[in-house]
Amino acid sequence: MNARRLISGTAVAAAAALGLGSLSACSSDSAAAGNTDKFDVVASFYPMAFLAERIGGDHVHVTSLTQPGQEPHDLEISARQTAALQESDAALYLKNLQPSVDDAVAQSEVKTKIDAASLTTLEKHGNEVGGHAAEHDDHADEELSGLDPHIWLDPVRYAQVAEGVGKAFEKADPAHAADYKTNTAALVKQLGDLNTEFEKGLAHTRTRVFVTTHAAFGYLAERYGLTEEAINGLDPESEPSAARVRELEKMTKADGVTTVFYETLVSDKTARTIASDAHLRTDVLDPIEGITKKSRGTDYFAVQRANLKALQTALGTK
Ligand SMILES: [Zn+2]
Ligand SMILES: [Zn+2]
Repeated sequence: MNARRLISGTAVAAAAALGLGSLSACSSDSAAAGNTDKFDVVASFYPMAFLAERIGGDHVHVTSLTQPGQEPHDLEISARQTAALQESDAALYLKNLQPSVDDAVAQSEVKTKIDAASLTTLEKHGNEVGGHAAEHDDHADEELSGLDPHIWLDPVRYAQVAEGVGKAFEKADPAHAADYKTNTAALVKQLGDLNTEFEKGLAHTRTRVFVTTHAAFGYLAERYGLTEEAINGLDPESEPSAARVRELEKMTKADGVTTVFYETLVSDKTARTIASDAHLRTDVLDPIEGITKKSRGTDYFAVQRANLKALQTALGTK
């Protein structure tokens, strides 16, 4: 949208006829950001792109800095992506998840910078969240823990972020404010319904403890009174210590854990080893950091519902 005032209607039509303008509201590859006739939003990774598309509807052109299938943590962005960021109308990102995106946004002159982390509350989490951790707890030892960025997996926090993004879009692109308001309200309602489904679906289970590969589900666990035991910490690339593996194996017996969860974008090797040593099943719990063909659903809501089902099976719904 940057260049809209500079280009005559004829030029826009000509560009469209040549296929130069991108007229779709869906994400495309990041090379094509900026300077469309829409409100151009660069989103850092899938959960941000999903919000931008749902709230922006037909008025936005969304590009994602993280490609489907790419692990978003510690993503390095290219010079081309940094340039595309300059030309966009808004950047929607989540501080602390991707330092190279944080730097690029901070250095860019993009007019509207929306940090999702500033629109909700973040907590420090270690590799155990809820349950035992809560008992002796200032939220796990400071050494092992950091500010947990995985807010989108808690439908309540994700709805808070959606509200803030809606307001930021209204301010940045006032011509379409009414539509942004309507779309935001619809999305927030849907997230409220999802929250109710999780509350009801996880109210009565045989065990409250689940094991995951990386510590992405801390906010979700706390929201529904569960305990997340993660093999790794907040970063999926880290490796567990031998002591942590022994501790997990002991704990799975004591707490009646049935399943070790792994995820679609990172290696399942450690999860499988622990599961086979402790005679447990494995299943997928998806942190929805990206949607690929392997995902159990084509968008946030579908994959969250698949997650709910997997949790119900693993925890033993009564
Ligand atoms: Zn917490
Ligand atoms: Zn993560």
